[in-house]
Amino acid sequence: MTGEFKISVLASGSKGNATIITAGGKNFLIDAGISCRQLTQRIKETGMQPEDLDGVLLTHEHRDHISGLPVFSRKYHLPVFANEATWRNFAQRSEMERSCCRLLPKCLETEGLKITNFAVPHDAAGAVGYVFSYAGARCVYLTDVGFITEEIKNNVAGADTLVLEANHDEEMLKKGIYPYALKQRILGTRGHLSNKAAGWLLSQMERLPGEVILAHLSQENNTPELALKTVRGILDAGETGGDTQIYVASQDEIVKNY
Ligand SMILES: [Zn+2]
Ligand SMILES: [Zn+2]
Repeated sequence: MTGEFKISVLASGSKGNATIITAGGKNFLIDAGISCRQLTQRIKETGMQPEDLDGVLLTHEHRDHISGLPVFSRKYHLPVFANEATWRNFAQRSEMERSCCRLLPKCLETEGLKITNFAVPHDAAGAVGYVFSYAGARCVYLTDVGFITEEIKNNVAGADTLVLEANHDEEMLKKGIYPYALKQRILGTRGHLSNKAAGWLLSQMERLPGEVILAHLSQENNTPELALKTVRGILDAGETGGDTQIYVASQDEIVKNY
């Protein structure tokens, strides 16, 4: 079932996030945290045009998720969906094309593609993760996660394709150069998910996803090799982990699952 969803992670990490999820002929952009110019360029690199997008879905109002959005919305007039709390705390809302700002419905349904969202603990007003369902397959997008809640587990369950935060290696973070307060923020219950926590979440799943894309890696406190090794190690300790394909998203280049 993994083939139902095409994922193009255009950018992922604390300097900016943007991902296109395609299913059933529809293309949705999740977050627009790189400049409009970069965003447009990377969309074209995938073979798509910005006009091919059916909408933008926001996870939360942090800068690394929205920085390119005001210009992008004025240029391409795409509907942008976010919940009320996110809009209320969106500092650049006045710079947005007003007609683009839409309230995120509980379920967004278009030609057989269903998109629902769920709450994620993070130091933002109303951070969410997304579930895409199409033709019996399920794709979940989950980054900027303080800790794993029951609600997260329930939403991730049954995912065929999972974009999952693996922000930091706990040891690298603790020994690293970040100031104490920032370390506490990242490690706290409204911060970011570690490699180990990402692996743990996977290990708790009754059925592992066919594909996992590790995302939002810290450039300071993680490396792609370490994230992959840690998560792979946890999966290989189980019985079926070997069947899961793992990709690692990048800040600087597009990572695709197709
Ligand atoms: Zn955030
Ligand atoms: Zn972020």
